[in-house]
Amino acid sequence: MTATSPRPAQDVIRPDKDRFLQEENPFEEMMSRFDFAAKQLDLEPGLYKILRHPEKQIIVSVPVLRDNGEVDVYTGYRVLYNTSRGPAKGGIRFDLQVTLDEVKALAAWMTWKCAVVNIPFGGSKGGVICDPSTMSNAELEKLTRRYTSAIIETLGPDSDVPAPDVNTNERVMAWVMDTYSMHKRHTVTAVVTGKPIEMGGSLGRREATGRGCTVVTKEALKQLKMPIKGTRVAVQGFGNVGSIAAQLMAQEGMTIVAVSDKSGGSYNPKGLDLQDVLKHVQGKKLLHDYKNAENITNDQLLTLDCDVLVPAALENVIDHENASQIKARVICEGANGPTTAAADKILNEKGIFVIPDILANAGGVTVSYFEWVQDRGGYFWDEDTVNQRLERIMVRSFDEVTGMAQRHKLDNRIGAYMLAIDRVAAVHRLRGMYA
Ligand code: NAD
Repeated sequence: MTATSPRPAQDVIRPDKDRFLQEENPFEEMMSRFDFAAKQLDLEPGLYKILRHPEKQIIVSVPVLRDNGEVDVYTGYRVLYNTSRGPAKGGIRFDLQVTLDEVKALAAWMTWKCAVVNIPFGGSKGGVICDPSTMSNAELEKLTRRYTSAIIETLGPDSDVPAPDVNTNERVMAWVMDTYSMHKRHTVTAVVTGKPIEMGGSLGRREATGRGCTVVTKEALKQLKMPIKGTRVAVQGFGNVGSIAAQLMAQEGMTIVAVSDKSGGSYNPKGLDLQDVLKHVQGKKLLHDYKNAENITNDQLLTLDCDVLVPAALENVIDHENASQIKARVICEGANGPTTAAADKILNEKGIFVIPDILANAGGVTVSYFEWVQDRGGYFWDEDTVNQRLERIMVRSFDEVTGMAQRHKLDNRIGAYMLAIDRVAAVHRLRGMYA
């Protein structure tokens, strides 16, 4: 391939560039939940102020020589929200919708998520405002390397460890790792996670988020004394998280009645033939062309008669308009931020058991932690070991979140925030303030 030929479709970037936070100010939206949880914990005013502010916000200009000989300059961000518990951990996204407030919100989210599953990381996030679908492979590589070198002071296995996010993938992580290693004059695999297996990635990482969703859904069913076998599940989003969760839940005996992608959904109240659906999708086909089930819209999927709903696509899909029509007994939030704050209130009133995103989809960052541990130790685990350790962490975290919620008679989301804030605050108290 020449430097000017277009990038092969789906080769470098992830196709779903529509999934962004829709709120006008995502940071304040996220902080409204933080504020409520902090109040329940009676957090000291000083610590409250510290935890409401990101530690570091970096804005960089990233010049790229385009294939046509012109220079374009892109704006990039890296936000380290909190590093009291360990190196910052958080993805890099490439998209036109990236804003500093969005990156701040996502970095805070990573801080709470890592604390919920009690892994020794803080939270960060990065992004570059660009449209990767209009860039060649060569341009994307230049952008990645120049952005990496612009933020290189913050990066490192002990300070800030990126991972893939919207429109970035294993390929992009390999370029980040190589650029960092060139500057350090030796190979540093642990500087990023979500790498190709051949260069220090972890077995089980690809499936980790869907596997984590399955583990916590089983725990929720157990707690609610609902059977696993025959439980009817609807999954929105049939990408990495949704398709793996659907397959693993089906393996556990649950009945997957509906799945969807951006084109729409497929529904069979008696259960879909998942292998058949997967075969259809693997042929790069969309679900609205799938003929062996009833076609439904994404909106219809959310309000289907089912036991478990797994939103695993976009932010803010469950809002004040559709929340009252949701019939599922359990919602497992595979996506980040699928439920608005207004919808939370309605779901609580209806008694729906929500497994909040910072717990439900934390399987991904948990196995990223395993990848970092394996890279640093130079010793790689087999897939069973990865999966068993992941399951143990997800079960323990589920018990801790629901225990916190029940003790305080609050919903699971606030329980998760309280658990996370409490853990981050405890370390701040122990470390004291360097003033
Ligand atoms: P993906 O790109 O693999 O899949 C996304 C799926 O959503 C695709 O099937 C796509 O067609 C569908 N989709 C896109 N727009 C849609 C729309 N308007 N309506 C319905 N479906 C639509 O992405 P993924 O990695 O599975 O991530 C999904 C969600 O999970 C995101 O919110 C992501 O932030 C979150 N998440 C992912 C991971 C991970 O490890 N991949 C970890 C934590 C959280």
